[in-house]
Amino acid sequence: MFRRTLVPSLALILCACASAVPAPAPVAPAQASRTTPTAAILAPDTLKAPMTTSFDPVAVGLTANGVRSVCDDHLAAAKTILAEIRGRAGAPAEQLTYATTIGRFDDAVAEISDAGQFPYLMAVAHPDKAVRDAAKECEPKVEQVTTSLYLDAQLASVLKAYAAKNEKLEGERARLLSDTLRDFRRNGLELPSDAQARLRELNKQITDLGQQFGTNIASSTGHVSLDPKQLAGLPPEYVSNHPVGPDGKVSISTDYPDYFPFVTYAKDRKAALELDVLFTNRGGDENVKILEKLIALRNEKAKLLGYATWADYQTEPRMAKSAKTVNEFLAEVREAVRAPAKAEFAEFVKEHVALGGKATDPIPPTDRYFLEDRLRNEKYSFDSKELSNYFEVGAVTKGLLDVASQMYGLELTQVPAEAWHGDVTAYEVRSDGKLIGKFYLDLYPRADKFKHAAMFPIRSGKRLPDGSYQLPAAVLECNFPRPSGLASKPGEAPALMEHGDVVTFFHEFGHVLHHLLTKSELATYSGANTVQDFVEAPSQMFEEWAWNRDVLDRFARHHATGAKIPDALFTAMKRSRAFGRALATQRQVFFATMDLEYHSRAPGFDSTKVLEEVQRANYPFAYVPGTHFQSSFGHLVGYDAGYYSYQWALSLSRDVLTRFKREGMLNPTTARAWRDDVLSKGGGEDERALVAHFLGREPNEQAYVAFLKGQD
Ligand SMILES: [Zn+2]
Repeated sequence: MFRRTLVPSLALILCACASAVPAPAPVAPAQASRTTPTAAILAPDTLKAPMTTSFDPVAVGLTANGVRSVCDDHLAAAKTILAEIRGRAGAPAEQLTYATTIGRFDDAVAEISDAGQFPYLMAVAHPDKAVRDAAKECEPKVEQVTTSLYLDAQLASVLKAYAAKNEKLEGERARLLSDTLRDFRRNGLELPSDAQARLRELNKQITDLGQQFGTNIASSTGHVSLDPKQLAGLPPEYVSNHPVGPDGKVSISTDYPDYFPFVTYAKDRKAALELDVLFTNRGGDENVKILEKLIALRNEKAKLLGYATWADYQTEPRMAKSAKTVNEFLAEVREAVRAPAKAEFAEFVKEHVALGGKATDPIPPTDRYFLEDRLRNEKYSFDSKELSNYFEVGAVTKGLLDVASQMYGLELTQVPAEAWHGDVTAYEVRSDGKLIGKFYLDLYPRADKFKHAAMFPIRSGKRLPDGSYQLPAAVLECNFPRPSGLASKPGEAPALMEHGDVVTFFHEFGHVLHHLLTKSELATYSGANTVQDFVEAPSQMFEEWAWNRDVLDRFARHHATGAKIPDALFTAMKRSRAFGRALATQRQVFFATMDLEYHSRAPGFDSTKVLEEVQRANYPFAYVPGTHFQSSFGHLVGYDAGYYSYQWALSLSRDVLTRFKREGMLNPTTARAWRDDVLSKGGGEDERALVAHFLGREPNEQAYVAFLKGQD
């Protein structure tokens, strides 16, 4: 996942999205920042060879003081650069050049990015609490600088004065100037002063309410108190982890490790529904009120800035460009899944009836997990545990790296990591013999470590003022099973991954490739710094390699026998993949439509009524009276009017795959074209144009529609 802040490229974390997990209301995206220093900030002797050109945050940021200085030194450098640009206000036009104005602005963006990127990682990955705490101090500091950036009238006046010269700029330089001027406008710098004052109030309230919304979700934990027999259907380890209390009852909470197994496996569906109501209503009535207030404030802000709706305001800088386009896209997806979802739902109803229900019963959304699990077992007798025997974590890691290096013609060399934990490994990346970047793998769980899977940038590629190129670096933070070799107990069972983990690994490595294969000269557009509705496309696309027979045959071997995945198991895996896809997509369309409706209608409506209405129109599982899912839907802050992005990027990724499928998934010429036409460009050109160049035609939804219909 990913969130863009005011600085167009202050993206941070790129996580696996809904695909692999039995997605709950997705977790709100984490905040990100970025990092780049100039060689001037850190003396050259602090630089670790062989990462050439400019600072190495890993070399300096592993202590509390070190991580503070990464943050503070780079923010100080950013402020110095911004003051320098501001100092040109009123200067004669001949002194205003690309390099002294908008080009210099990108240097400041890079410094801000460098200030935040590595501390943000350390805040969730360093084993020492003192370092994590020091790292956490950075985010508010970065936030403060970024929010004031686009409200800086003097800064804007210099950039506008340069723009008025109408010098010819090309490529990403031209985009930087127009995007930056647009972002000043979008932040209200062209408004009269009373409107600007109101805008500042609105921004403050929107930020405060958004934080409160998230806090309320995080802090609400509900419990149901059950008789031990109500745990029937749950795995034995779940039951033993939930001992009977002194009152003879078992307590089950709404936290994920309690909630998901219970709603998926519990035979007592009334108890599952009772738990689900608590889960759905996290955030409480207070969050319903906060959301409705937020919707009104966002609407007022959009109107003040000259947009019809918040949805129009939010979509303007993205690929979609308008709410109308998003609506048309969602309508197309809705239509494509209508028939397959109806067929899938009929099977769910049949199963419900077989279990003693009536065909006319309203089936609550909770039962989707339960019925799908039963149907999957009955229809495919697909044994995911058996499949795991083919995915030993070390073999998968080596296999993934081999596939990536062969496809993109890269040479990967493991080097001493000298990082924040002994589990971390490091690799230098060379292309045509030339060092182009570095990545780290931090794959195994430990206490106080980030709990999901994500790519964190460590530094971004950028052409530095001295003409050298700052090489990008990134890390994957994951939680895969730890191999026994690392656990120092020889003879332990092999560390086997679920296939879903393998898919996640490919997804996240897709983000790494995007980050490292960049050739952007500007930090603003480097690597995965693209628009929000594109950024997941390269990683969603790379998931497909984890489903490909030729690819899997290279490394997926039974840990004991060395055999390849048997045909029957492979076929079952593929068939099982398609099952439930249409209903899962309808659920995503339901969420995306609700998000868009909330941010398109005139405020003052009852958000629960709109939810019910949208659910009825988009999803066959019944609305449960008394529930208000919107109060626990964290994406409504941060991804507001942006939830459609997941489906949008998925559609693009299916389209991109058509060329790979035609020319060969491991065809180096095709991969080279994808690298040169798209990955190397980052966000520096219109993303639609980049994909069109790769495909040799305009992108369209045909491949996605076929995928949704199970024809792919
Ligand atoms: Zn992702």
